[in-house]
Amino acid sequence: MLGPGFRCDSISSAFAAAAFFVNQSTGRALCVTLDFVSLYEQMLAVAIEEARIGLGEGGIPIGAALFTRSGELLSRGRNRRVQEGDPSVHGETDAFRRAGRQRSYRNLVMVTTLAPCWYCSGLVRQFRIGTLVVGESRNFAGGLDWLRENGVDVIDLDNRECRDLLAGYIAQYPEVWNEDIGEE
Ligand SMILES: [Zn+2]
Repeated sequence: MLGPGFRCDSISSAFAAAAFFVNQSTGRALCVTLDFVSLYEQMLAVAIEEARIGLGEGGIPIGAALFTRSGELLSRGRNRRVQEGDPSVHGETDAFRRAGRQRSYRNLVMVTTLAPCWYCSGLVRQFRIGTLVVGESRNFAGGLDWLRENGVDVIDLDNRECRDLLAGYIAQYPEVWNEDIGEE
């Protein structure tokens, strides 16, 4: 019933309309109803669109967006390291800045095609963004466990399109990718 691509450890029959996203390091499970999974997938589609625009511009294909919990889009962004020669513009920081001032981030959802790096994980933590939806964490695990341990609801959709899009870029431009994640 979940379809391919979900990293879901178990579905209890008592909660047939829910998926569990388990923190591998703490064993703590986050229960998400399938209605929300569907909503998160729609949010992820916006981030994927941004990643593809970035790729078309010759940039690193990582996109992000900021939504309210009910699904209202506040902003969208993408990695612009190559396009603008600015290493501080990651997908998450781009979306964050474009959302302008918000009184609270507790009820907002940051969605990004890839698990956030330490820099962007710090942003999520600093502003107490309540929910983080990531397209994948296989190409880069980022700070997901740290965010979970600090109370952020993390949903890893393990989306194949996100995985393939970035893996293809890394294979083609490994030096730009290493530059982006601070590897020498
Ligand atoms: Zn980042």
